[in-house]
Amino acid sequence: MPDSADDARAAVITGATRVAAVIGSPVRHSLSPAIHNAAFAALGLDWVYLAFEVPEGRGAEAIDAMRTLGLGGLSVTMPHKAAVHDAVDERTPVAAALGAVNCVFRRDDRIVGDNTDGAGFVDALRLDEGIEVAGRRCVVVGAGGAGRAVAHAVAVAGAAEVAIVNRSPGPAARAVQIVGDRGRVGTVDDIPTADLVVNATPVGMGDGTAAGGATPVDPELLRAGQVVVDLVYQPETTALLRAARARGAVAVTGVGMLVHQAAHAFRRWTGLEPPLAPMTAAIRRELARRAHSDGGP
Ligand code: NAP
Repeated sequence: MPDSADDARAAVITGATRVAAVIGSPVRHSLSPAIHNAAFAALGLDWVYLAFEVPEGRGAEAIDAMRTLGLGGLSVTMPHKAAVHDAVDERTPVAAALGAVNCVFRRDDRIVGDNTDGAGFVDALRLDEGIEVAGRRCVVVGAGGAGRAVAHAVAVAGAAEVAIVNRSPGPAARAVQIVGDRGRVGTVDDIPTADLVVNATPVGMGDGTAAGGATPVDPELLRAGQVVVDLVYQPETTALLRAARARGAVAVTGVGMLVHQAAHAFRRWTGLEPPLAPMTAAIRRELARRAHSDGGP
């Protein structure tokens, strides 16, 4: 039986409704529909945001579909970020540097690929916490898609140096190439002297059981005066952030980056300023619902 929210949604979808979507595989756990539908609703926009399960190897076809169906915007998640980078007509400089696209928008009749993760990270610090990364010594733990995006963004934002600490040496070295002159492969010994420490691994993700209490680095390495950011957002306050606070560091959760990377996509698609408070509330509502329904993200 449709509930009142479904009735309300059906009532506003017309032949003129614009469609945006996320493509990925798996995609059903994406938070993007909750975030963007909350934003559209808050501004009273005649837009709807859906999730499409697109099998690996077919990301380029989704770009053709965007063109054919006139979709207003696409978010791109694993495993399509590199394939979509290759399939779009143009790339923003950051998407080209990372070789990965997480947001696709239209510029006239061209399809453009962007990557909003790094800008979302820098905005979360700047706009939510009043923290500038310029001049700071940064350690990014993790060299996957998120780690590379954050490392590149903090370097562009003027970080004094960016040490990348990763379990496997190959991805760390590749990330340093993306970061450029300010980047280097680091070790955990860089953590005590860093100004900004970022966890860009999935370690700490979980439901609060023993596995969810894991930290990506020894908490004893953290110190007062540092800023510690965990990109993991479920749970919102991870064991790493609890340890950082206990040692007098500023602890920043991954929810801010999630909101601000979506905010950049929203601007690209609609040309409007995103409603950050309803977007943040939608994330917290959805994370709470998941924590209570199935015990995991
Ligand atoms: P990814 O591309 O799969 O990269 C994962 C990275 O974590 C790799 O560097 C990997 O090291 C490392 N890693 C994985 N398991 C590890 C372990 N047990 N111990 C030490 N290192 C480990 O993933 P991603 O897309 O970068 O995402 C990383 C995390 O960031 C995820 O938790 C994701 O949910 C989160 N994230 C948050 C936001 C946000 O907006 N808050 C945005 C993007 C991602 P190896 O190279 O050795 O495999």
